[in-house]
Amino acid sequence: MFIMTIRDIIIIGSGPAGLTAAIYASRAELKPLMFEGYKAGGQLMLTSEVENYPGFEKGIMGPKLIEEMRKQALRFGTEIVTKDVTKVDFSKAPYTVEVGKDKYQAKTVIISTGANAKWLGLESEQKFMGRGVTSCATCDGAFYKGKEVVVIGGGDSAMEEALFLTKFASKVTIIHRRDEFRASKIMIKRAQDHEKIEIKTPYSVTEVFGEKLVQGVKVKHSDSEDIEEIPCNGMFVAIGHKPNTELFKDQLEVDEAGYLITKGKSTETNIKGVFACGDVQDHTYKQAITAAGSGCKSAIEAERYLAEHE
Ligand code: NAP
Repeated sequence: MFIMTIRDIIIIGSGPAGLTAAIYASRAELKPLMFEGYKAGGQLMLTSEVENYPGFEKGIMGPKLIEEMRKQALRFGTEIVTKDVTKVDFSKAPYTVEVGKDKYQAKTVIISTGANAKWLGLESEQKFMGRGVTSCATCDGAFYKGKEVVVIGGGDSAMEEALFLTKFASKVTIIHRRDEFRASKIMIKRAQDHEKIEIKTPYSVTEVFGEKLVQGVKVKHSDSEDIEEIPCNGMFVAIGHKPNTELFKDQLEVDEAGYLITKGKSTETNIKGVFACGDVQDHTYKQAITAAGSGCKSAIEAERYLAEHE
């Protein structure tokens, strides 16, 4: 069914980037329509305590932070639909966004569909999520002061996270499934030279164990298949992220890893009036606050675009 009203702004995705865009756009009286998706809120919904989001001296739980942002967006008149977008058409303005059989149109679209950390796919990994299993050293490293942790992966992210974690942890073991690394030579050398870091290859994690919290991981040698236990309080999975760009990749420019490409300091995509913010276009910072900042930029840019095209 065609929903006839042409909206000023449609926002797809409801993490900190999308919600910040919604707050700004609704305060500018643009009455944005947001498709928050069935898994609304993004990666913060999987986090426990957030201690580095400014304004919360004592920290705030990830889902609570999202709830507050959502209420703030609603307060100024954002319309929120809890459904997943199934198709978009950016070939001509106004742009079309489809949700099943329903079609919506807008003069501008803000994409904030985020990215998801890749996980090992173990049942025990799922069980200890937020209780010792995490994918973000910047977010959770400070909880591991004086403790032993393992980092999984052999790319630059794994090296970077391991080096960062040495600030807090008493020991960091990098576990990688092959003897060769994808990480750059300089990052590997830094990790190898660090007194707190041990590198264990070629091993894969087969199980995370513990009672309420993580107490260790079981690893299997890639050739001999020998099993060992490594005691630790935290497992940081750093095996890459996947941006949620399936819907857009035939219409918008993406980089080799699938992230949407935005122009210079702006959040403009290759299609005028279509903007992208948050982790869907950022594989460098990946923080709630940087996502929120880019969501603000998208809303301001959409507002200016609308003013210029009135
Ligand atoms: P990446 O380079 O794709 O490396 C992912 C690592 O995880 C690989 O070593 C891979 O092993 C391993 N892995 C993947 N799936 C796995 C699984 N199921 N089980 C066990 N191990 C698995 O990803 P990234 O490290 O996140 O980096 C992404 C991009 O960002 C890269 O271009 C990187 O250079 C860049 N980056 C740069 C910096 C920096 O310059 N400071 C920091 C972070 C990231 P295999 O090697 O065996 O496939």
